[in-house]
Amino acid sequence: MVLDYFSLIAEKGKLKDTYRHQGLRKKLVKDLAAKGIKDPKVLAAIGRIPRHFFLEKTFEDWAYQDKAFPIGNKQTISQPFTVAYQTSLLAVKKREKILEIGTGSGYQAAVLGVLGARVYTIERQEDLHHRATRLLQALEIGNIRTFFKDGYKGLPEFAPFAKILVTAGAKKIPLKLKKQLAIGGIMVIPVGQTVQRMYKITRLSETDFQEEVLDTFRFVPFLEGVEKSK
Ligand code: SAH
Repeated sequence: MVLDYFSLIAEKGKLKDTYRHQGLRKKLVKDLAAKGIKDPKVLAAIGRIPRHFFLEKTFEDWAYQDKAFPIGNKQTISQPFTVAYQTSLLAVKKREKILEIGTGSGYQAAVLGVLGARVYTIERQEDLHHRATRLLQALEIGNIRTFFKDGYKGLPEFAPFAKILVTAGAKKIPLKLKKQLAIGGIMVIPVGQTVQRMYKITRLSETDFQEEVLDTFRFVPFLEGVEKSK
């Protein structure tokens, strides 16, 4: 059985962000800057969001280490460095439409929301989708819409998107997602089987895309189809 931990904390008033958490978060931001994250807006967003809300209460002390962590259903919340790295590549602007594939805990969506984007985030596992939806609502970040769907298909009804962010490792770049990118838009996607290279894809015109292949990461797999709650 999956622990429904978010239901314990997502009620208003039970979300506590103490001075200790804030101190740990400041240190995490310093660590990320030391590891090469330069964008001050990205660092500020990470400094604002209580990452411990996105983990089970028992593990909250791990929340401010630069590590990935299990969130149930065999999935993980991405490592803060990875979140900061992908977010920096997106160069987020206020009010632009961003599609995220792989809501997971909802943490990355929260970072994009705090940066002022209009966020559309898709999750293929129903349990995770519900938990993240409740938590993001309780946090009242605003401008974040969650969807329980297969991210391979994207959200054609809301396209085009200024930015598309994939937070699961893809075997290949889904053509359907490329088509939902606005001209001038950027897609950030980790591509590869066991390990992935980060790709930054810029749509130059209706038919032309520029690809940049960047650093190596390890993500949980981008899978087709949805998984309903048991
Ligand atoms: N962005 C997340 C990271 C979650 S890990 C966070 O901040 O916590 C990647 C997530 O992608 C997992 O929850 C996994 O279930 C989801 N995923 C994998 N394939 C998917 C697909 N086809 N559509 C939507 N979500 C998918």
